[in-house]
Amino acid sequence: LLIYYNGEYVPKSKATTSVYDHGFLYGDGVFEGIRAYNGRVFKLREHVDRLYDSATAIALKIPMTKEEMEEAILETLRRNNLRDAYIRPIVSRGNGDLGLDPRKCAKPNIFIISQEWGAMYGDLYETGLTGVTVAVRRNAADALSPNIKSLNYLNNILAKIEANEKGGDEAIFFDSNGYLSEGSGDNIFIIKNGKVYTPPTVNNLRGITRATAIELLEEMGIKVHVENLGMFDLYTADEIFVTGTAAEAAPLVKVDGRAIGTGKPGPVTKKMVEAFKRVTQSTGTP
Ligand code: PLP
Repeated sequence: LLIYYNGEYVPKSKATTSVYDHGFLYGDGVFEGIRAYNGRVFKLREHVDRLYDSATAIALKIPMTKEEMEEAILETLRRNNLRDAYIRPIVSRGNGDLGLDPRKCAKPNIFIISQEWGAMYGDLYETGLTGVTVAVRRNAADALSPNIKSLNYLNNILAKIEANEKGGDEAIFFDSNGYLSEGSGDNIFIIKNGKVYTPPTVNNLRGITRATAIELLEEMGIKVHVENLGMFDLYTADEIFVTGTAAEAAPLVKVDGRAIGTGKPGPVTKKMVEAFKRVTQSTGTP
């Protein structure tokens, strides 16, 4: 397996960074998660745009153009002969010293890791995931914005640990104001009385799958209401589904041990899962 590392394609064993990399020392860097289906990269430009926005938000200048980044991503797949893959571009602040000061880091380190990847949740797309609400909070807009896909994912790791301990497939975050936020690696949609709701992206990552889901629902004539939601909305939902690059669109049928609606994936969710499969199989950058 070849990994892009600062302009070269090197074997896995050579793709190692310094202990002085501020990405390692401080989580000072940004990343993306991208999928390829059938040899085509899904929403490539959107992911590259978000990578650069994340970098801009932490005052990190990526020393290559977006076009070069896209080409490096595509070339990584070609060199590894991957058609159905998960791709992880990472840009760290680079090698500095033990101090915080980013001015000590002369240039960012850029990595692109890819691997073969199929459906993350297997049969659960049919039967549904279980979710658990977690005590750890997602930042709201006034703190470090969750729109930054940074290398500091400790919040999400803590949420995952909690979900694992409580025996759930996915963690469900609230923000410090008690508003529904997202999953540890996906956005959340609620269906109630035929209407679809999702929280505004002030307290969650502006998901590219979320945007695709909104488009697909609207094509089906289903309007999506972007509103602040709470625990009440979660527990009283008729259906819930989550969206993310890794998770795709997946039903969530239980929260904190309680059945959601009938306890089975509902009609809107089923349509969404199918529509998302169709769009990933039929679009993308070759
Ligand atoms: N929320 C978080 C915290 C994530 O890490 C991800 C994954 O990228 C998402 C949501 C879903 O975003 P996207 O659909 O762009 O993958």
